[in-house]
Amino acid sequence: MAKNRTDELPVELIGEIAPEKLIQSQKEDSDIKVIIEYKNIDVKPGWHDVSRHGNKVKTYWNQSDSLEFKNGILCRKFENISGDEIIWQIVLPKALKRAVMEQLHNNITSGHLWIKKTLAGVTNRFYSCGLRSDVEQWCKTCDICASKKTPQRKANAPIKQYNVGAPLERVAIDIMGP
Ligand SMILES: [Zn+2]
Repeated sequence: MAKNRTDELPVELIGEIAPEKLIQSQKEDSDIKVIIEYKNIDVKPGWHDVSRHGNKVKTYWNQSDSLEFKNGILCRKFENISGDEIIWQIVLPKALKRAVMEQLHNNITSGHLWIKKTLAGVTNRFYSCGLRSDVEQWCKTCDICASKKTPQRKANAPIKQYNVGAPLERVAIDIMGP
């Protein structure tokens, strides 16, 4: 099966964040810069080089084979489960996390999409350690979402005690349709 392999980063991946800013922020990120330095000299560091770093560097190191520069931006190659599609996710520096979440969650076109859609929007474009929980947290603490969210309808009727005179006097039967 032909893969939808793209060697170029689609422009819309970057959105309102200038590529120069992304490149600069990646170089300044305390975790990402360690990986960039190794990538620049085209050496995969051994575990003894990485072990002194924090968990985030170790996570990026584990992904090292999937990390490549695209237009000077460090990206992660992500293949979907069926293996027929590859997307390039921009490795997101800590400094830009907030701006990205704001852009994808808050802006008018995305219109305060709830966690699942915001997550899909972010992870289709970006990769970073702990991004998933950051997005979830961001959505949960968004005041506008909280005010818009309608209470969920209860799936089950509340449990209620009936006073019955004798056993099996009142039996409720749910009949399921075909
Ligand atoms: Zn919101």
